[in-house]
Amino acid sequence: MNAQLNVDLHSHSLASDGLLQAHEVAARAKAGGVDVWALTDHDETKALGEARAAAEALGMRFINGVEISVSWTPRTLAANVAAPAPVAADSVRKSRSASDTTIHIVGLQIDPANPALSKGLKAIRSGRDERAARMALDLEIAGIPGALEGAKKFAVNPELLSRSHFARFLVEAGKATSTHQAFFNYLTEGKPGFVQHQWATLAEAVSWIRAAGGVAVVAHPGRYKQLSQPQLNEFFAEFKDLGGRGIEVMTGSHSASQYDHFAEVARCYGFLASRGSDYHGPGESHVEPGALPPLPADLTPVWHDWF
Ligand code: AMP
Ligand code: MN
Ligand code: MN
Ligand code: MN
Repeated sequence: MNAQLNVDLHSHSLASDGLLQAHEVAARAKAGGVDVWALTDHDETKALGEARAAAEALGMRFINGVEISVSWTPRTLAANVAAPAPVAADSVRKSRSASDTTIHIVGLQIDPANPALSKGLKAIRSGRDERAARMALDLEIAGIPGALEGAKKFAVNPELLSRSHFARFLVEAGKATSTHQAFFNYLTEGKPGFVQHQWATLAEAVSWIRAAGGVAVVAHPGRYKQLSQPQLNEFFAEFKDLGGRGIEVMTGSHSASQYDHFAEVARCYGFLASRGSDYHGPGESHVEPGALPPLPADLTPVWHDWF
C-alpha cells in the first residue's frame, strides 16, 4: 500500500444530486490528481459501471461506493433533559420520529448486484417520491407553487429526487440567491419546505453494506450538529457494534479542528479512517476532488488492505 496515493472516496454524479455525469466526475478527479476514486451516489448505484470504465480509462483505480440515508434516534436523551413521562406506544413512535437525526453511511467496496443491498436502496429511493410531494405541498402553503415539477426538471434520475433539486428550483424561481441560501431558508429543520422523513435504520444500512461485501463508513461525522457529544458517542458505539468499520476524518464538510477531533475519535474507537471530498460539481462543493489534506500518518486508512 502506497502512503503517497491520493485517495478520494466520496463523490456524487447526476445519478443522485451531483451536477455532472459520472465520466465527467472521473475527469475532475483525474485533474485533481486522484489515484483511487469512489463514486458514492445517495441511495443509488446505477452510475458505478460508467464511473469505473471512465476511471480505468484515465488510469485511476475505482472503488464501488454508495451513500445510504439513515434515520437514527439516540436511546439516551441529552444529559440536561429530564426523562419524559411514559406515553402510549403510538405517541412514542411519533415523538421518536420527531427526534430522528438523518445520518449518512458510506458503503465502500460493495457489490452493487447484491440483492439485499439493491432491494434496500430501491426501497429508500421510492420513499423519496412521497417525501418530495410533502415538501412541495409545504412550499405551496408557504406561497411557492410548482416546486415538485420544478425540482423534477433538475433530477436526471427520476428515482432520486433530492433536496438539492428543490434547492436548484428555488434559486431558478428567484426565491434564493444560492442553493446554500435555499437550504438555509427552506430546506432545513424548522423551515417551510422541510419535512421529517423515515430513511433506513442504521442496522439495515450496515447489514446491506456488509452483505454486499463492503465496508461501512460514517460520512462527515462533524455534520450531525443535532446530536450532543454523548449522543454522538452512543451512535459510534452502536455503529461499531453493528459491524461498522470506519469514519470520514478528512471530508469537505470538516474544518481543520474537526480533522483533528475526528482523527482522535478514530483512534479512540479503533475506526479505519477515510478521506473524501463529497464533490457534487462546480459551484456546489467546498473542495475539489483530491484536494483535501492527507490522513494523519498514524491512522489506518480504510483502503489499507485493498491493494
Ligand atoms: P436529501 O438526501 O434529499 O435530504 O439531500 C441531502 C443533500 O442535500 C446532501 O447530500 C447535500 O448534497 C445537500 N445539502 C444538505 N444541506 C445543505 C446545505 N446546507 N447547503 C447545500 N447543500 C446541502
Ligand atoms: Mn448530496
Ligand atoms: Mn452526505
Ligand atoms: Mn455525499
